[in-house]
Amino acid sequence: MQSHLFVARARKFKSCLEAALFPHQIDRAVYENLIASVRKRLPLMHEYIALRKKMLNLPEIHMYDLYVPLMDEAQSNMDYNEARQAVIASVAPMGPKYQAELKKGLLDDRWVDAFENVRKRSGAYSSGCYDSMPYILMNYHGTLNDVLTLAHEAGHSMHSLLSRQNQPYIYSQYPIFVAEVASTFNEQLLLNHLKSKAKSDRDQAFLVNYQIEGIRGTILRQTLFAEFELQLHKWAEEGVPFTPALLKKYYTQLNRDYYGPDIVLDPELEIEWARIPHFYYNFYVYQYATGLSAALALFQKAMVDEKAKENYIGFLSSGGSKYPIDLLVGAGVDMRKPDAVNAALDYFEKLLQELKECL
Ligand SMILES: [Zn+2]
Repeated sequence: MQSHLFVARARKFKSCLEAALFPHQIDRAVYENLIASVRKRLPLMHEYIALRKKMLNLPEIHMYDLYVPLMDEAQSNMDYNEARQAVIASVAPMGPKYQAELKKGLLDDRWVDAFENVRKRSGAYSSGCYDSMPYILMNYHGTLNDVLTLAHEAGHSMHSLLSRQNQPYIYSQYPIFVAEVASTFNEQLLLNHLKSKAKSDRDQAFLVNYQIEGIRGTILRQTLFAEFELQLHKWAEEGVPFTPALLKKYYTQLNRDYYGPDIVLDPELEIEWARIPHFYYNFYVYQYATGLSAALALFQKAMVDEKAKENYIGFLSSGGSKYPIDLLVGAGVDMRKPDAVNAALDYFEKLLQELKECL
């Protein structure tokens, strides 16, 4: 915090926040609107916590109970080949050209190293360079989560492919602020595809809860982190000394505000902030929340409007040729306004309703 403050002052910025947002020309309204919009809808989170407590049949609900699956993870019953076919089928709404490119990548060009192997690393990512294919590493076991991971990484790879095809080398890499839009957009495509084919209320409930948890973890939790990070920098600017007692008290208050009256806050949680690596970056976490909000807003537009779909494909082809906010304006969403975050929270509300109806 002290080093961020030093740099901000040395370069004559009004605040640490403005110094951090300057390089990518992100308006501070983006950050402030995110927090204000999420704060307004916190009762939705409280409702979800109460619903979870009821579904898990718990006398009291603790933070760690949020990480227990509400139901057994559905086996996708798909082998890897069927998973590829499902991901390819799910992108049909993006038009025949997009679908054909992805099909060629996943089938003929063999972008994906799919299975575990001796000394292979865990996890999943999309990688490559300007003149290579957009390769994917993953570890496919056949769970639904694995199929969604394939859709996610395929989204990144298509973003890379289209950007490399359409941009010179210098603009071919897209900035972090927009990176998770294409991947989460494709997860939504797959989830919609699977929901349309769900055989039972239970399968449906699993898919709906997956989407709810995505918004909870990526929009609500990360906004709590963003708020914590902002306040710490404000204290640094005001010369308030950081003591463990101050940070613990503030972090607990935020958890109470965000998770509501039902959650039991154990003393260990007071110091959770110390183990979040992102707090050692510089105003990073808010981008998870804005990224998913943008993806959900663009997804909803693209599914009902041909022109919106074209604009979205245009965005996937623009790499880093503009500043991130302008890239997203081109795609059809202005993150300086609260609309996208509000729409994502409306969607969270709708999903909660759907989950209740499945039970
Ligand atoms: Zn990703």
